[in-house]
Amino acid sequence: MFGSMMFKDLLISDLIVHAGRYHTDTEIISRETTGQINRTTWGEVAISARKLASALETLGLQKGDRVATLAWNNHRHLKIWFAVSGGGYVCHTLNPRLHPEQFAFICNDAADRAIFFDKTFMPLIAGTRAHLRSIEHFIFMGPRDEDVLKAMPDAIFFDELIEQGAADYEWPQFSERTPCSLCYTSGTTGTPKGVLYYHRSTMLHTFAISMPDGLGLSSREVVLPVVPMFHANAWGIPYAAAMTGAKLVMPGPGLDGASLLELIDDEKVTLALGVPTIWMMLLAAAEKAGSQMATLKRNVIGGSAAAPSMIKTFRDKYGCDTVHAWGMTETSPLGTSNVPKGKFLDLAPEELFPLRLSQGRPPFGIELRVVDEAGQELPRDGKSQGALQCRGHWVVETYFGQETSALTADGWFDTGDVATLDSDGYMVIRDRTKDIIKSGGEWISTVDLEGIALSYPGVAMAAAIGAVHPKWDERPILIVVRKEGHDPSEGEILAHFEGRVAKWQIPDAVVFVDAIPLNATGKMLKNVLREKYGNMLIERGA
Ligand code: AMP
Repeated sequence: MFGSMMFKDLLISDLIVHAGRYHTDTEIISRETTGQINRTTWGEVAISARKLASALETLGLQKGDRVATLAWNNHRHLKIWFAVSGGGYVCHTLNPRLHPEQFAFICNDAADRAIFFDKTFMPLIAGTRAHLRSIEHFIFMGPRDEDVLKAMPDAIFFDELIEQGAADYEWPQFSERTPCSLCYTSGTTGTPKGVLYYHRSTMLHTFAISMPDGLGLSSREVVLPVVPMFHANAWGIPYAAAMTGAKLVMPGPGLDGASLLELIDDEKVTLALGVPTIWMMLLAAAEKAGSQMATLKRNVIGGSAAAPSMIKTFRDKYGCDTVHAWGMTETSPLGTSNVPKGKFLDLAPEELFPLRLSQGRPPFGIELRVVDEAGQELPRDGKSQGALQCRGHWVVETYFGQETSALTADGWFDTGDVATLDSDGYMVIRDRTKDIIKSGGEWISTVDLEGIALSYPGVAMAAAIGAVHPKWDERPILIVVRKEGHDPSEGEILAHFEGRVAKWQIPDAVVFVDAIPLNATGKMLKNVLREKYGNMLIERGA
């Protein structure tokens, strides 16, 4: 009587089967740790992933075991991703920028049984090996290498291991509610926590980010994920590139402006993605080289707020449309992206510009709300500011290894961000709950202050923090890194705020530093800055 539709579990292996079959000759370019460029194709990656998954069986791993990677964005890493998740194991991407103690803690917490590593990270592994309790197999990502054998006589070599696998390996079929990968939060203010993604959550996220109002991937794009595969799965780009058959360009260790510029120009990159610090370096390199980055039509900025001045430079100087996006490790990561709705397309560029500064709106599959301190939902009026909460198909429920849910009693995930939402769904991140400044009972957004500081020509980087104040509790101060060859003074920078914010929001002081400390994913470490400069107004006798 009733009809039915086919049911097929959504599995990561489906992505690589699709890319290998229908985008066989589409190129995958990557920079090796030696600096050389490797050229391969989706067809070859698909065969290698099968062979590697087959070879992993010979290591005695059980389904669900964690297999770690300590690697740059490159073609071997891509093959490992599909082989490990597709084979029914859990791909645990490790962040090499973590402190060695934290690194060992995470490996042990995840109970990783095998680890793949690029040559760059051999010292980190050799140095922490005595503390890595669960790892049995150390697999070097390359051909046989005498340096590696000297340091680690029991190392296995990727290029040899893969040859032991069978190209006709059949991808196992299992429930889509099976874990596929694991990523730890950066743990800037506490112990890092693991987020365990499922095949289903990852596949639904992949559909969503591929859509035009998501990150807009297609077989016509040449995509450069500068964001590392260990930072929230490179924002899902390797999966979405396989789903859509996009050409992938992987930067390897070459994350400096000049190396990125070379890839963009040589490989005709159309879409690149990364955190604000990367773009600063790229813009400086393009300026120096006199490159127009002619093929680069779009870039996605996320991870920290994109400064308005940076979005403008990309638009006016390079004809590149910046898509501002927001997300978290806990949200797979895409939560919002800023693509204008049709009704805004007739606006003049300068009218549209303010709308493009927000972090954007959620794709289908993510719901957002802002709540006050009592947990009551606030109006979606673009003004009411509160704790940002979300829920959806690719949002964490329980952290890895924990018993208790990470959600509120009514099933929402509290992001730790402070935001506004408008009636069109556009969200603006005002701050992290821990960073926002409360001066005389009024909130001051550090994101706003930093955006203004960065629009002053001689400012390369700026962090606004709250410094303790005897009368106002907290007052904003600015920590500034000057641009090379510029020498802006405290007075000049502070004068630049006049008329751009209310008078009482103008910072009380500017401190010039050579560098601002960054965490493992390139975010400014404001807790470190607060420790160092948080009492300066008191010390100055404010
Ligand atoms: P992570 O899990 O390390 O990617 O960090 C997630 C956090 O980064 C979010 O909760 C935000 O505080 C911050 N973040 C991500 N994207 C943006 C953005 N576009 N603007 C401002 N903050 C952002």
